[in-house]
Amino acid sequence: MILSGTALDSPSPDLSLREVAYFSMEIALSPALPTYSGGLGMLAGDTLRSAADTAAPMVAVSLAHRAGYFRQKLDAVGQQTETDVPWSPEKTLPPASQTVTITMQGRAITIRAWRFDVTGVTGHIIPVFLLDTDVEGNDPYDRRLTDHLYGGDTYYRLCQETILGIGGMTLLHALGCQPDVYHMNEGHAALLALALLEDQLKGAPLNTATEANVAAVRRQCVFTTHTPVPAGHDKFGLDQMVQVLGRDRAAALEATGCLHDNLLNMTYVALRFSRYVNGVAMQHGKVSQLMFPDYKVHAITNGVHAATWLAEPIQQLLDSEIPEWRIDNQYLRSVYGIEPDRIAACHNKGKQRLFDTVAKRTGVQFNPSVLTLGFARRVATYKRASLLLQDPVRLAKIAEKIGGLQILYAGKAHPADNAGKGLIRDVFTEAAHLRSPFLKILYLENYDWDLGAQLTQGVDVWVNTPRRPYEASGTSGMKAALNGVPSLSILDGWWIEGCAESVTGWAIEDAETEAMEAESLYTKLESAIAPLYANPTAWARMQQHCVAMNGTFFNTHRMLRQYFTNAYFPQSASTKGSAVSPILTPDSQPAPVHEHVLV
Ligand SMILES: *Cc1c(COP(=O)(O)O)cnc(C)c1O
Repeated sequence: MILSGTALDSPSPDLSLREVAYFSMEIALSPALPTYSGGLGMLAGDTLRSAADTAAPMVAVSLAHRAGYFRQKLDAVGQQTETDVPWSPEKTLPPASQTVTITMQGRAITIRAWRFDVTGVTGHIIPVFLLDTDVEGNDPYDRRLTDHLYGGDTYYRLCQETILGIGGMTLLHALGCQPDVYHMNEGHAALLALALLEDQLKGAPLNTATEANVAAVRRQCVFTTHTPVPAGHDKFGLDQMVQVLGRDRAAALEATGCLHDNLLNMTYVALRFSRYVNGVAMQHGKVSQLMFPDYKVHAITNGVHAATWLAEPIQQLLDSEIPEWRIDNQYLRSVYGIEPDRIAACHNKGKQRLFDTVAKRTGVQFNPSVLTLGFARRVATYKRASLLLQDPVRLAKIAEKIGGLQILYAGKAHPADNAGKGLIRDVFTEAAHLRSPFLKILYLENYDWDLGAQLTQGVDVWVNTPRRPYEASGTSGMKAALNGVPSLSILDGWWIEGCAESVTGWAIEDAETEAMEAESLYTKLESAIAPLYANPTAWARMQQHCVAMNGTFFNTHRMLRQYFTNAYFPQSASTKGSAVSPILTPDSQPAPVHEHVLV
């Protein structure tokens, strides 16, 4: 995999013209770089890939994560072990032209950065700065702070978030970059607001900050919250806050209302300092609004970067029929003008490629003419990986009746999540107990970018069974839809918007108990999905609907355009200059339209 062509000596794009700075603790930049753990990082990467394709004036900041997010090994009973995937930014990427020094833990820490260029279809570049504290002269503890994504204890995590927020902001300014908008992709980056506040004060002590200063910071910040699961919202003890940030910054956070339940809560820091807050699907916006009643919470539904996730054969088909799709995904709607069996033929190639990979990795041969379900995601209790296996006897009976069924699982548990690791073992145990010649179940190791792509391009039906309402959005089902793969899913997250029953997939009915939800899943499988699969013409029609209806909408080109219109540069609000919003009269000029955004 080519690293997006960032030549070690290539000049930096003109940073002074960048209007939006995107901050994310993880960003999936290339299949070859282990700088992400899952959905959040994928979304960040897809966002920047769409920004590059549509020539958006953006720049991004994250950490280098030298140790890499881990490689997963599963033994015969499904016990997960992890190994680091170390990489060397210095051998791979050009350095940023500046280093910066900030104070944290009561001492100086020098931060350098490596530049990864995300290059779009027309050559536009989004520079991404990966912060790195492995610098000679730094305290030995500090040199390891940008190594482990989501590693270490809470103290380590708070240090990382200080580096991301305050270090990242300081670096952008040192590079001559003065964006109008700072987008916090999740609360991890919220401390950038503190740096913006210090910037407002021009050297005056933080305790002189006024409401007007806070309001000025608010006009610059946008915050996206990504999960209603409480553990997903970082909280730190007050003693840690003082130790890492020092008394002055700690007092400023307290004075500006950033503490919650007597803890430093990064979500509240972000809420307090942002003028626009959003969830990542319409339902998630509503759920988040209930969680944070004191703040207005909007919604912008996630998407995926189409050219990243579409299988090669479909890309070729689209290039020949509607080449405009690469710059503007709305053209995907025109797949209604392509014969469905041509889409089905492309999908068959993806299925074969996936099964070749499965055979090579496991020695198990899957049959390409048998209905195949995929279930792959980060392992967490609310995702309920084993709902599909709730009644194995019933499942085996269905498999026999419909002439065979194959199921592919994948997913990593966080190294410290013993409950999650237990869920992987549960799937192994259930699969081992099944002795049906009609039902094959495999759990594939090391779910990552490449495997995720092959699975969403190759299975026939994508299954998702979260406990409502904890799936904020989910994006793997969108990747599947783009590739003509319908979903069978609980009506949660994006699927509430994406499900047209029997057209783009099927909803698992809401029920009081898990057993009843499993029953609904089995009934749909037996009486709706299998009969349709047995009719190739009808199935190909459904594949076409998936691409035309859902691929056209659930992509990051559309999502990013919504961020520009609603969050970054809304017509109704000023984001620049004066302390008060201008009052728009009917004939006043709306905020400038950013014409270099082609979306
Ligand atoms: C797309 C993707 C995710 C996120 O998918 P969800 O549906 O949100 O679980 C996570 N990990 C990988 C490797 C992916 O490709």
